[in-house]
Amino acid sequence: MTHDPNSPPVVVIGAGQAGLAVSFYLQRLGLVPGDDFVVLDRGPGTGGAWQLRWDALRIGSAHRINDLPGMDAIDLSFDTADRTKPAKEVVADYYRQYEDFYGVRVRRPARVTSVFNRGTDLVVAYDDGAGDSVELTTQVVVNATGTWGSPFVPWYPGMNEFQGKHVHTTDYNDADSFAGQKVVVVGGGTSAIGFLLELENVASELTWVTRRPIEFLNEGELNLEAGAAAVAMQDEAARAGRALPSIVSGTGVPRTRRIQSGIERGLLVAKSMFSSIEPDGVRWSDGEFREADAIVWSTGFRPELRHLAPLKLREKAGGVSVGAGSSWKDPRIFFAGYGPQASTIGANRAGRQIARQVVAMLSNL
Ligand code: FAD
Repeated sequence: MTHDPNSPPVVVIGAGQAGLAVSFYLQRLGLVPGDDFVVLDRGPGTGGAWQLRWDALRIGSAHRINDLPGMDAIDLSFDTADRTKPAKEVVADYYRQYEDFYGVRVRRPARVTSVFNRGTDLVVAYDDGAGDSVELTTQVVVNATGTWGSPFVPWYPGMNEFQGKHVHTTDYNDADSFAGQKVVVVGGGTSAIGFLLELENVASELTWVTRRPIEFLNEGELNLEAGAAAVAMQDEAARAGRALPSIVSGTGVPRTRRIQSGIERGLLVAKSMFSSIEPDGVRWSDGEFREADAIVWSTGFRPELRHLAPLKLREKAGGVSVGAGSSWKDPRIFFAGYGPQASTIGANRAGRQIARQVVAMLSNL
């Protein structure tokens, strides 16, 4: 049966790793892309958030990037991908080939502005990039919007008076923009560490601050136990509808050879967090002051859920209650790549689990 193009039974919002994994399994369970389900993405091209990341980021410089399900059918694997090219180019290219091969027919640019109820249906409203607003009527929504569009910066006194640049991970392009500058990098994750390594011989002065002490692991890769503990923390928060905790606080930072050598030469030694910001620098509570031309905030992200506000899924605790992939308040709304699934391997797992549940739900309608 062919559906009205504006009334597909399922709408997937986001064509990153999570949205594409869901699409793969929906298709495998017999749903036809572009007809039984429609995938929307606001990005100009393929690659999910990867297409927007900074040039120096390479495949494997953060963590392992897991292949999308079914990628082997087109003879592609991130394990053998070119590590000399920017990750943003490699991922965009692989996802483009994948979308073409599986005929995913992602509608882009399609920026979803709101999802709301109309009678017993859900309506997904999006901006089509040409100034028109389009409405899709549907029964099930899979939200796979990631976090990149929702950067988080903690507030410190004096923040607005700072005369230098505030730069979040999402605004960071390359180290050269900081040549000769005094830079303070905030954050304890792999992005902060990556920036410090890049800026080492470029900035005139480099200070690293973290809100909690960094736990460097003895091994060079995340061990399964640390990963499982972090996932469990995320899952617990997601089920309770609390704001999601930082992943790195649950895993620690693997001591790769590059990181170990940065620690040994004194680069990767973090100070405690400053207590206030002044027009020309940052100050600690004991009175110490350091001048700064730029503060790089590698302080993470929040799930991007603004467009779901009309559905009133938020809990008083600050988050959305999500268990086994769907909202506890409205089981027609699925979350792929959320909380414990916010990694490429988690996104793949989400794809399989959510596609099965979506198909079961459709057969009961
Ligand atoms: P995204 O890739 O963010 O995709 C979400 C998609 O939704 C985007 O294409 C976006 O355009 C779209 N979207 C958002 N809002 C809307 C809207 N309102 N309307 C329409 N479309 C919308 N994980 C790993 O496993 N390995 C790594 O090495 C790794 N490195 C990372 C490095 C950095 C700097 C960061 C920030 C994260 C990293 N991660 C890594 C986590 C990684 O981002 C995820 O694993 C995974 O790629 C996220 O996939 P996703 O589909 O959930 O989100």
